[in-house]
Amino acid sequence: MHNDELPASIGMERLAPGEHSWAGALVGQPLPRIRDLGGSADEVTGSLTLSVGDQRPRLQGECQAVVTIDCERCLAPVSIPVHGHFDLIVVDRIEQADAYGAEAPVVVAPKGQLDVVAMLEDEIILALPLIPMHDDTNCDGGQRHFGPADEPAPVRENPFQALESLKRDDSGETH
Ligand SMILES: [Zn+2]
Repeated sequence: MHNDELPASIGMERLAPGEHSWAGALVGQPLPRIRDLGGSADEVTGSLTLSVGDQRPRLQGECQAVVTIDCERCLAPVSIPVHGHFDLIVVDRIEQADAYGAEAPVVVAPKGQLDVVAMLEDEIILALPLIPMHDDTNCDGGQRHFGPADEPAPVRENPFQALESLKRDDSGETH
């Protein structure tokens, strides 16, 4: 058992029945899907408990990372700490997920090979905010209005101007 570094993959067929745990950092692993999102993940750590035996294998645990990605408001990089929890049924093939219904999250481990890196990458992406932004709602100096939904819209001085802009928006994109 490793206590300081997570394995990149786990060969489940070699595990004795019972609970097996790992905890530590994910070191030196590229996370290509986070890179595709324009981001990078540092300080990726986690803990995993894999239960094998008579029942379908179950993987439970949590992970943390610091994801650096472009802020949707000011487009400058923002570092966001993320924290994910997971409780997954391990299946050989995604088709087997149907047996558990849509509610039960699964992780696919083809031929008993659990890809820990890909699984953690999934969880980090799921834990990211939908719209990554700086905590400072004025990080762009107020140039754009991407504020919370309950933030009052700028007041128009002339209601007829507002009507004009609504009419113009009919043909094009509204915002
Ligand atoms: Zn920003």
